[in-house]
Amino acid sequence: MAAKAAAKARAEKDKAAAAAKTAAAKAKEKAAAEKAKAKLDLEKAKAKAAADKAKAAAAAKAAKEKAAKSKAAAKEREAKAKAAAKAAAEAKKLKEAADKRKLIEAEKARKQKEIERRETEERKRQERREAEERKRQEALDAKMHSKPYEKDPKFLATLRDLLLGKREEYQGMIATKESEADEMLVDRERLEYDDEDGSSVSSDIQRDQLKEQAAYYRLQVQEIDVALARVAEGSYGRCDECYEPIRPRERLEVQLPAFMCMSCRASV
Ligand SMILES: [Zn+2]
Repeated sequence: MAAKAAAKARAEKDKAAAAAKTAAAKAKEKAAAEKAKAKLDLEKAKAKAAADKAKAAAAAKAAKEKAAKSKAAAKEREAKAKAAAKAAAEAKKLKEAADKRKLIEAEKARKQKEIERRETEERKRQERREAEERKRQEALDAKMHSKPYEKDPKFLATLRDLLLGKREEYQGMIATKESEADEMLVDRERLEYDDEDGSSVSSDIQRDQLKEQAAYYRLQVQEIDVALARVAEGSYGRCDECYEPIRPRERLEVQLPAFMCMSCRASV
């Protein structure tokens, strides 16, 4: 019995030992497996970390490149914008210069046009003045050669007769004055023998006066001859000053001869 129990205990002891051995082996196996797993996990994690790192580095590199690219692009854009602004400024300057030139030329053209307009105006004015002057001269010529009473030969004949009558009268006066002067000369020769009171001197004065009067009437006769010549050509009755007809016509019958109108006569 005891042996049996001992055997049984031994068997059980062996069995327990085997079980413990198995369990230990299993635990060892499990630990090894866990270790292996942990190693694998670690490697996996390491690999992942490395991959992540690489990925991050690549991303950083890409980001850096992208930033550099964008910076370069921005720089290029800026340069382009600068160039465009410069070109625009240049173009603006050129356009302003061209506009200014155009303005100057337009102003020049306007001034030239104005000068031409003034010249034309001045020429026209000059032509008008000349035409007026010509007309005035022609009118004056016509007036200067007018024959105011030409169409009234009867009136001119009357004037001629009146002038001839006056001429005869003046010639009579001349004859009278000269014969009186001659008479005085004869008297003077007589007086020279007896000239105590100086009467020969006073008679000389009187004789000179008579001669002067005769000369005056001779001038009057000359004037009448001029008037008669004008009556003959039909121009008598025209004022010598203003060339207007002498009016009223009755003046021509009273004033013998008449060479001026009343207003011109008054202003002499
Ligand atoms: Zn007059």
